Amino acid sequence: MSLRPTIDFLLYDWLATEGLNQRERFADHSRETFDAVLDTCERIAREKYAPFNRLVDTQEPHFDGEKVTLPQATHDAHKAYAESGMLSAAQDYGVGGMQLPYTVESASNAFFAMASVSIGSGMLTTGNANLLMKHGTEAQQRVFALNEFSGRFSGTMCLSEPQAGSSLSDVVTRAVPDGEGFEADPLGPRYRLKGNKMWISAGEHELTENIIHLVLAKIPDSDGKLVPGTRGISLFIVPKKLVDTEGQPTGERNDVALAGLNHKCGWRGTTNTLLNFGEGKYPVNGEAGAIGYLVGQPGKGLHCMFHMMNEARIGVGMAATMLGMAGYHASLDYAKNRPQGRPVSTGGKDAAAPQVRIIEHADVKRMLLAQKSYCEGALALELYCARLVDEQHTGAADVADDARLLLEVLTPIAKSWPSEWCLEANSLAIQVHGGYGYTRDFPVEQYWRDNRLNMIHEGTHGIQAMDLLGRKVLMENGKGLQLLAGRINTTIERAIQQPELAAHANALGAALAQVGAATKAAWATGNPQDALANAVPYMQAFGHTVLAWIWLDVALAAHAAADSPARTGRLSAMRFFFNYELPKIGAWLQVVSSRDQTCANLPEEAF
Ligand SMILES: Cc1cc2nc3c(=O)[nH]c(=O)nc-3n(C[C@H](O)[C@H](O)[C@H](O)COP(=O)(O)OP(=O)(O)OC[C@H]3O[C@@H](n4cnc5c(N)ncnc54)[C@H](O)[C@@H]3O)c2cc1C
Repeated sequence: MSLRPTIDFLLYDWLATEGLNQRERFADHSRETFDAVLDTCERIAREKYAPFNRLVDTQEPHFDGEKVTLPQATHDAHKAYAESGMLSAAQDYGVGGMQLPYTVESASNAFFAMASVSIGSGMLTTGNANLLMKHGTEAQQRVFALNEFSGRFSGTMCLSEPQAGSSLSDVVTRAVPDGEGFEADPLGPRYRLKGNKMWISAGEHELTENIIHLVLAKIPDSDGKLVPGTRGISLFIVPKKLVDTEGQPTGERNDVALAGLNHKCGWRGTTNTLLNFGEGKYPVNGEAGAIGYLVGQPGKGLHCMFHMMNEARIGVGMAATMLGMAGYHASLDYAKNRPQGRPVSTGGKDAAAPQVRIIEHADVKRMLLAQKSYCEGALALELYCARLVDEQHTGAADVADDARLLLEVLTPIAKSWPSEWCLEANSLAIQVHGGYGYTRDFPVEQYWRDNRLNMIHEGTHGIQAMDLLGRKVLMENGKGLQLLAGRINTTIERAIQQPELAAHANALGAALAQVGAATKAAWATGNPQDALANAVPYMQAFGHTVLAWIWLDVALAAHAAADSPARTGRLSAMRFFFNYELPKIGAWLQVVSSRDQTCANLPEEAF
């Protein structure tokens, strides 16, 4: 079974992606050029990623005290990915890019996430370089970002510390000016950093010539004290190996040392590291302290970093989606081939009759259709968000601003909904396999382990939910929420014209009204403690309503197509979502609307 027909349908029949070539930036593109990129990525994913997904899980990265060793397959996959030009796909022609729409870039990267999420496709490197293209100086872009786009260097994002995960205001990594003339360094104001960064993905390896860390740290005030809160956080480029203004190695190692690798539940093909900055293991000019070049203004580090984090959140949502999809395809294949049991009928079971394949049992079909509705729905959501990124960057001013605000509201859903529900899809894929699914002889347990990360990193589920209810639906006087409601109503108005879809349109209208009322009720006292106690159930209901909208909109495109098994499948997945999933929002919103404090008020001793 191939992912490609679903991608093609969503890109072309639903999102009319080829129409983007009307924009000046994409004028050289056409459906043919988009298809050529998709073909290349599909092929590399099939040849260099998929066959090695289990290998990178079993041959974990190994640290011998000096170097980290990764399987040869990971080196080969990275090389093929870099050579495909995908690292700089969205960049200008002038810097070697393809000026590819983000929608097509996201769809193309989906093949890698499905084939082997933990070999990785360079999401961190691209995000790191994109941040520098936005906030870095000309020299920082030329020396660091362009070498990342070419695949010569790779990138990380270093936010978390052992004592500061969700609460980044508590980072204690320090950056102090590196002597006289520190401001005159051609690569940016030069500082010395000291501190520890925890959980850093791809923080050490030999896949590239250099690793460019983007590090959040605080510059102490004149008393040597760190400014509390996020205001005091600045952003620094800290290369693993020092380079000159042409990006060539100076031969000196920077003072960044790998303290150790984390041994993870899944996603084992990517190293995850505890990095010590400035402990003196690799002194520079005889002194301890990692050299870091300031990016942007002091104290504005988190603002710059958000540029990378928003992209990363859509990337995480896509990764979660594609892991779910991998499980769906594997369990569908299994269900078509596994004979077990006999059908129930009014006359009981005929033990002498041959067994049926498990796909013939209604409950197995339920589990398969649930996976299809979660994963294909989530894929549509991620591509819709990617399309908003293109609108934001290339649309007319008012369209671009609407896209920006819609993305603000949708990003927590794009990150969190697939992380929860495509993980549930992975659990169902194990269930379809029965006992075999619980063994390492089949791939589905690995998909589940890999996917379990996504509710944790890039802002945990709880933090995303608080961001949604505490900030995003309120920002700019609720304009983002109103915009979203406007888009949902447009879909409802179109769907209500179609007898086959009208009941679903009405159900979506009712769900939207429920979410609106619950948002008001949650904030009725104006007290964040009352409102945010149930932020996760709110996000679950909000997410299900968004997915119901996405499915209804996709169904409109499917409905217009000629009859085929794919059309039936899409309309059935939409119906499944409305009949089995959307009704769940009532229970979630009840505790939100009543500002239920059962959990919040329970004293610790009562647990
Ligand atoms: C495999 C992996 C890769 C990672 N990669 C990177 C990386 O490349 N770069 C990087 O900087 N970081 C990375 N991280 C770190 C990741 O972003 C953090 O783990 C995450 O932000 C949570 O921080 P924490 O682990 O300290 O948990 P904590 O912040 O201690 O949270 C623990 C629990 O408490 C809850 N909680 C915390 N604060 C609140 C609150 N105020 N209100 C309600 N609930 C709260 C959380 O939701 C969570 O359930 C990675 C983590 C992992 C596991």
